[in-house]
Amino acid sequence: MKGIVDKLYNEHTIEYNEFENLLSCGDEDMAYLADRAREVSLNTFDNRIYLRGLIEISSYCKNDCYYCGLRRSNQKAERYRLTPDEILACAEKGYELGYRTFVLQGGEDSYYNDGVMVNIISKIKKRFPHCAVTLSLGERSRQSYAKMYEAGADRYLLRHETANEAHYAALHPEEMSLKNRKACLFALKEIGYQTGCGIMVGSPYQTVECLYEDLLFMQELQPHMIGIGPFIKQSDTPFGKFENGSVRMTLLLLSVLRLMFPKVLLPATTALGTMDPMGREKGILAGANVLMPNLSPVGVRKKYALYDNKICTGEEAAECKNCLSLRIEKIGYVIDPGRGDSPLCQ
Ligand code: SAH
Ligand code: SF4
Repeated sequence: MKGIVDKLYNEHTIEYNEFENLLSCGDEDMAYLADRAREVSLNTFDNRIYLRGLIEISSYCKNDCYYCGLRRSNQKAERYRLTPDEILACAEKGYELGYRTFVLQGGEDSYYNDGVMVNIISKIKKRFPHCAVTLSLGERSRQSYAKMYEAGADRYLLRHETANEAHYAALHPEEMSLKNRKACLFALKEIGYQTGCGIMVGSPYQTVECLYEDLLFMQELQPHMIGIGPFIKQSDTPFGKFENGSVRMTLLLLSVLRLMFPKVLLPATTALGTMDPMGREKGILAGANVLMPNLSPVGVRKKYALYDNKICTGEEAAECKNCLSLRIEKIGYVIDPGRGDSPLCQ
């Protein structure tokens, strides 16, 4: 097993059978994998963790993804949307707390048309010219992505969810397509966004083949960021009775991704922290280098219920920041005060 890890470390590639073997490795090999991955993240980013302040702008969504609590068919979902002023106020608070990247994430909500988004982005960039704006608003037209980029948006997160056609069709209704998802990602990159793709680990019907296809797709896309976290069931969705994804598998994949893509931005996600109280720390020790604390107004946080039991829904933004600083210091890391751009863009 060490041979597979060393090859991954040296050559950044892995064959299908090697990957399959690695996924069933024991704890000792897993520790070796994490050590090598951590060595690479320390080489690239030192012991510095980049912070992104997450602002969950809307819980309305026109899509019906089977796994997500915000899906349009979920009658039990509580819907809200933040006004441009409320979003700016979140950024203001975040800036005071030291955040230099704001992530505006939401369901696909037609209220946030291009005009509204251009207005919000320009206002944030005017007020905080040295901050980065990341968008995570799902699939839009190329023109829409271009307009928001011209307005000052720097980065875009759009998990591809799975690179396997049949698996994609098992996770989404017919009107959504992997082809379009991928086309969006390539368009975002071409326009100039620092682009992030990603998957849920252990989503229903995911196989080793699916995961390997994800790796191949990522090699093709060459993203700046990769967001992965465990699938967590949401009781009011069609997948409400499926098993959750595992922390171990997520950590293992984080390490594999770190070795395949030494310079990629790799968050230890809130979903990982939800599945294990030390999940985010373990993610960093497995090669992750980004955290995305919540900056949304406390009053709306429980309503942004992508999955069950999401953590940090009751804390004020300042509490989340302090809590995370302390947590990462305990494992020998510090928060980087900058924008944390992709090293591939410098
Ligand atoms: N609407 C946008 C952004 C919000 S959803 C979009 O879909 O891109 C952000 C991410 O949350 C999704 O990409 C998905 O990977 C993740 N997510 C949704 N439901 C989840 C669940 N039940 N468990 C874990 N992650 C989930
Ligand atoms: Fe909407 Fe995104 Fe949830 Fe799909 S994953 S239902 S697009 S919020």
